[in-house]
Amino acid sequence: MQKQDKVLASAKALIDFINASPSPYHVIQNCREKLLSVGFSEIFEKDKWKINKGGKYFVTRNQSSVIAFAVGKQFNGGNGFSIIGAHTDSPCFVVKPNSKKEESGYLSVGVQCYGGGIWSTWFDRDLTLAGRVLVKDSGKAASINHQLVHIKKPILRIPHLCIHLQREMNENFSINKEVHLLPIIATKAFDDQLNKSVGVGVKHHSVLVNLLCNELQCQQENLLDFDLCLTDTQPATVGGAYDEFIFAPRLDNLFNCYSSLQALIDSIEDDLQEETNIRMIALYDNEEVGSESAQGACSMLTENIMRRVCIDLNSSFEQSVANSFLISADQAHAVHPNYADKHEKNHRPAFHGGPVVKFNANQRYATTAVTASLLRVIANSCNVPLQDVVVRNDSTCGTTIGPIISARIGIRTIDIGGPQLAMHSIRETCCTSSVDQCLVLFKEFFQKFPIIDKSFNI
Ligand SMILES: [Zn+2]
Repeated sequence: MQKQDKVLASAKALIDFINASPSPYHVIQNCREKLLSVGFSEIFEKDKWKINKGGKYFVTRNQSSVIAFAVGKQFNGGNGFSIIGAHTDSPCFVVKPNSKKEESGYLSVGVQCYGGGIWSTWFDRDLTLAGRVLVKDSGKAASINHQLVHIKKPILRIPHLCIHLQREMNENFSINKEVHLLPIIATKAFDDQLNKSVGVGVKHHSVLVNLLCNELQCQQENLLDFDLCLTDTQPATVGGAYDEFIFAPRLDNLFNCYSSLQALIDSIEDDLQEETNIRMIALYDNEEVGSESAQGACSMLTENIMRRVCIDLNSSFEQSVANSFLISADQAHAVHPNYADKHEKNHRPAFHGGPVVKFNANQRYATTAVTASLLRVIANSCNVPLQDVVVRNDSTCGTTIGPIISARIGIRTIDIGGPQLAMHSIRETCCTSSVDQCLVLFKEFFQKFPIIDKSFNI
């Protein structure tokens, strides 16, 4: 395939993944389907495990985090884990437990703000709902299931106030997050006319409950609870005059969920015949709110799974950790042409310049000279360029799961990510080339890390 064709094919595969993943629960379901299709076995934390060399497995927690791993056929006790970590969640609005709101003839849905979104970008968009619903199956005794839902039409709207009633809005637009962000779902007049027969929802408008029940083909009384988020209906797309951009929601961080998953799958073309490590991806929920949850990177999930794998393979956990490496893959800020001064002058990541290595002396990122050098050797061996970033000293800095996992487990870690614009907007922008670059780099990491690590006497 021509280079440009390959770049576009990789970009389109990412776009398909994003369009099919409107919530973390959908991300995990898509990962599950892909992993099962290439021979991974799903195992469960509550069961006893029997992990074998050459085996491929995955574990999910809360249906919103997943750890998948493939054991090298040459794995020996003490050998390491080659890990890529990312996060499944993105800033969004989440439907409140009692969401029923009514004002001036409109029915609205109460929502919480999840994470640090650029909430102004959610105004005047064609919004809908996606997530998971707990449904009681009345056909069988005491059977309660987790079902995914994604209503594929624009049912919700957060309308702007017209400029005539706020002349200063282009100079200083500000939002009260409790008052101004309520999405409307219907008018009271229409609802009174059309929705009478179905009874009144106590916690939520019955029009909302009915939409969910129709989608799930279930009775109202069988709908126990849900985790639902708002999402844009506009699909992700390739853009720009030269088809060099991707315009999409949730690039932070579905970009790295997709590319780490695909690279793990691609890397297994070698059948793990010569592999001495365990190749692993760890995709966590709740990074956008600090990772402190049972399914977040702060939890014992990673350590528990690594320990259990080590026990089954007769390996010392502590020795394996010392031989392990984590790429914490999360999107990076490309230099913004209209705000170039916001970026440190010597560190302005460009589109098409390759994955960005993130440094921060205050440990907001976990990269060290050792971990950066290791990745540079890997990047060199597969001809993927890398670029560096640090923030200005007078600027705030984001963080990732990198410092969390490296501090808790003691694993060598590097923070990297594809360059993108408008992080945490409802619609973000990255470049098509970075998808293929990350796929190549991550695959090379999985296939070459144990060999390259041997040349480091550190
Ligand atoms: Zn992120």
